[in-house]
Amino acid sequence: MKKVLIIGAGGVGQVVTHKCAQVPEVFGEIMLASRTQAKCDAIAAGIDRPVKTARVDADNVAETVNLIRSFGPDVVINVALPYQDLAIMDACLETGVDYLDTANYEPRDVAKFEYKWQWAYQDRFKEKGLMALLGSGFDPGATNVFCAHAQKHHFDEIHQLDILDCNAGDHGQPFATNFNPEINIREVTARGRYWEHGEWVETDPLSWSMTYDFPVVGPKKCYLLYHEELESLVRNLKGIKRARFWMTFSDAYLMHLKVLGNVGMTRIDPVSFQGHSIVPIEFLKALLPDPASLGPLTKGKTCIGCLMQGIKDGKEKRCFVYNICDHEEAYREVKAQAISYTTGVPAMIGALLMVTGAWRGQGVFNMEQMDPDPFMERMNMHGLPWHEIVE
Ligand code: NDP
Repeated sequence: MKKVLIIGAGGVGQVVTHKCAQVPEVFGEIMLASRTQAKCDAIAAGIDRPVKTARVDADNVAETVNLIRSFGPDVVINVALPYQDLAIMDACLETGVDYLDTANYEPRDVAKFEYKWQWAYQDRFKEKGLMALLGSGFDPGATNVFCAHAQKHHFDEIHQLDILDCNAGDHGQPFATNFNPEINIREVTARGRYWEHGEWVETDPLSWSMTYDFPVVGPKKCYLLYHEELESLVRNLKGIKRARFWMTFSDAYLMHLKVLGNVGMTRIDPVSFQGHSIVPIEFLKALLPDPASLGPLTKGKTCIGCLMQGIKDGKEKRCFVYNICDHEEAYREVKAQAISYTTGVPAMIGALLMVTGAWRGQGVFNMEQMDPDPFMERMNMHGLPWHEIVE
């Protein structure tokens, strides 16, 4: 029986804790820690197994080290914010514990969406015989595994990849983000970027769009964004010529975002206001609905998948691997909407594969570097069934 320490009691932390609790034969003891212990206690109270809780400021390595030493976990699941990634990795190195997260490290003052800071830990994790699994959410996460699955079972070479992220859910609010608003808005307002013929091509934010006819949810307008999994996938997919990422947004969401951007409310640099230094996007976050509050309000489905073209035995082949997740069903099961659900389930599965030895390695890994089969099997078992259309 293994012990898991989950750090971060937001929407995703809620799901990870519930999902770990559903697998008592693997996760014998669970601790949930966050900056606000009351949030951990509230989550623990909704679970019919004992879940220990604690307060930790994960920006402070010494605090996290003490917590890890007192609980003695086999793995740390980091579902706090990307700003904490390196500090938690440092604490894992110091205590000799494996590490997993769902989002790449971000410096606070500049939106980068790059793995370079975390890849730089490769030798340190390797020397200690430890494993760090990066980006075990849905995208990144399941999308990387979908690519590895297609590479293993359908293609000799994948030439074109389009990751398609559709949230066809509706929460009825004029403007809200379905995960941490600061991270979400930083991602959406950044310049677009895709990979073509061995180099990155930049686009103006949200300047490229197309309509894609998604299974079950139907045609939706998608916008090209840069997304972090592209960085590792273009390294690890054999023969890749073009890789892009698309996300759907409603016209109302984009209109609000445009106005907020135009008036400076999405800025991530500090401004002086009445003698105080404030970061506009952090202030905006305080005004917007807490993503966790959208859970009971959201209806509809998500469809996230990877559309790939390539060759098998000299012939052209096309494949779409995807998952459909229903917001209301997710809420009924774990009291969180589908965006948190689709992130939290893969985080639990990644940790489960690590602690059971199905996924082992020494160093820092992205998901597509692992055998996709046990992960895909677990997705079907733990609430994220996948489908594929192969032509
Ligand atoms: P939330 O903002 O809802 O939750 C974040 C939690 O982290 C909060 O409970 C917060 O605590 C806690 N936290 C923040 N700073 C610290 C700190 N210094 N020490 C300890 N705890 C801290 O975010 P989400 O749950 O929506 O997202 C969690 C992570 O998942 C993010 O990194 C996000 O980018 C990632 N994500 C990944 C996706 C994927 O598919 N790969 C998709 C969606 C999200 P408090 O409330 O007390 O301030």
